[in-house]
Amino acid sequence: MFVVDLTFDCYQDTTLDMAEVAINRVVNALRFNGQIIGDEFPTVLKDGYFITRVMCPLEDALHPLNHSPFVKHAIDQLQKAGLLAPKVKVIGQDIHANGADQCTEPSSYILYTTYVHTCSPLYCGDDFLPVPLYKIPAIANGDYKALIKWQEDWQACDQIQINGATRCEFAALEEISSINSDLFRRGMDLSKRIRFLTQKPVYYYLYRVGGESLAAEKQRKCPSCHGEWALSEPWFGLFDFRCDSCELVSNISWDFQ
Ligand SMILES: [Zn+2]
Ligand SMILES: [Zn+2]
Repeated sequence: MFVVDLTFDCYQDTTLDMAEVAINRVVNALRFNGQIIGDEFPTVLKDGYFITRVMCPLEDALHPLNHSPFVKHAIDQLQKAGLLAPKVKVIGQDIHANGADQCTEPSSYILYTTYVHTCSPLYCGDDFLPVPLYKIPAIANGDYKALIKWQEDWQACDQIQINGATRCEFAALEEISSINSDLFRRGMDLSKRIRFLTQKPVYYYLYRVGGESLAAEKQRKCPSCHGEWALSEPWFGLFDFRCDSCELVSNISWDFQ
């Protein structure tokens, strides 16, 4: 992950409000296109410039060739607010963050996230690195907004069930672990779409906690087809189960690890 500053030059008088709206439009469009990651982008006004700090999955993520139609439109709209297209300055690599997938042709993908992950929810099935979303064809309406929204909801549910301090805990857990939940339905629709666009298997991750015992956990069957899905070795040290016909992965209950 790279720390990048976007500098917006004012070429004519503008108001703070107009500039803010126009900059937010660019930042949101970049975010829904996977070119920037995270949800907090501090913006400062300094010597007549606006500087917005963002995180990018790769050093060249903001190259115009990666722009979606929304990003292009948002950059065009800057003019109306008296701003020029942003200058991109790569500050450097974030020492805390993980890398991004560089494979040209991953043989499969995994849809996976947790409340602590600030990166793409699509992982490479060859080396388990997060795939910058703009590297795959746009999912719907020119970008990946539906996928980012799914990730936000998944992370919110995960946070609520991990904190375990509200009555929402059980409903939140159901959303991320059950095949009868709305998050599952939405996530599987997105998986199917990515499968269609990339012609590669896309595995969907089902969270697992609770259960009776380690022995009972190991006997667990695929919740969709009820077939065998236990792996002899966990995939990427994380997924103990994988059903290749349903394209689902899961773990042995976190209570028994
Ligand atoms: Zn890879
Ligand atoms: Zn199955």
